[in-house]
Amino acid sequence: MNPNIALSYEFFPPRTEAGRLKLADTRRVLARQRPNFFSVTFGAGGSTRDNTLETVLDIQQSGEAPAAPHLTCVGASNDEILELLGKYREAGIRNLVVLRGDPPSGLVGMGECKHAADLVRLVREHHGDHFHIAVAAYPECHPDASSLLADVDYFVDKMKAGADLALTQYFFNADAYFHFLDRCRERGVDQPIHPGIMPIANFANLRRFSKQCGAEIPRWIRKTMNAWQDDLESQREFGIEVVSHLCEQLIDGGAPGLHFYTMNQSGLTLQVLRNLGLARD
Ligand SMILES: Cc1cc2nc3c(=O)[nH]c(=O)nc-3n(C[C@H](O)[C@H](O)[C@H](O)COP(=O)(O)OP(=O)(O)OC[C@H]3O[C@@H](n4cnc5c(N)ncnc54)[C@H](O)[C@@H]3O)c2cc1C
Repeated sequence: MNPNIALSYEFFPPRTEAGRLKLADTRRVLARQRPNFFSVTFGAGGSTRDNTLETVLDIQQSGEAPAAPHLTCVGASNDEILELLGKYREAGIRNLVVLRGDPPSGLVGMGECKHAADLVRLVREHHGDHFHIAVAAYPECHPDASSLLADVDYFVDKMKAGADLALTQYFFNADAYFHFLDRCRERGVDQPIHPGIMPIANFANLRRFSKQCGAEIPRWIRKTMNAWQDDLESQREFGIEVVSHLCEQLIDGGAPGLHFYTMNQSGLTLQVLRNLGLARD
């Protein structure tokens, strides 16, 4: 197993004091894994945007890992985006995860940048090479896309607009990642594409979340998990086994990094890293 594989961890900004304490603990544990960055979602799942800035500044000041704020363009003017970018730059931030975002229900305007590629261009136009830019990729196809190949073509445009790295939506089928990678390489994308890894904590939550974001849960996983409706311990153990095996396949097949959707918990992620022999403690 490649011990130099790049590892990054995604958090959502906590909204309560208990949430803040829990995230502080998670960060402390995962900081020992020498992360490439800790990323913080922006406006996802209804989280407020001010909380993102606060969490990002807290991470950056802690020195635990470089902070990578997620930045979305949906419903925002370019002036608002540039003001926020100025604050990040002032705070010494060098990493961004640049996204379109999903319009909350009831939102009227889409924002000046219509797609993530426009936002990548805006950041590059105003800040040159200051920021290392990661963007999103969808090996199983973005839910709005008319076809996988159309989605790949738009993804390629986004990489060519100036992205340095891509982080994928989570998936449980390694072939989808390798197939996507081949299509991108054929079109001249040579930047790294790190699989997004979702450790399975609670299957009911995962099922709900996967429906929203278009991630497919294979039948054999559903059927196994469904048999343990109230047995969270069995779900957890099986989830760790499934996700560890997936990561092993991805790394063996050449994935250069893993991006963990931690849901602000360290336990499952750490167990997966240990199973892979990648835990750095
Ligand atoms: C790693 C990761 C982190 C995320 N973090 C957040 C977050 O913090 N906050 C949040 O709100 N959401 C987040 N999301 C979700 C993301 O915002 C949604 O999936 C959103 O619907 C698409 O964002 P995108 O950046 O991929 O958009 P885009 O790259 O703009 O693509 C969106 C859709 O538009 C299509 N498209 C692209 N360009 C064009 C074009 N020129 N013409 C026509 N169609 C086009 C694409 O095929 C795709 O179907 C995250 C997703 C990932 C994978």
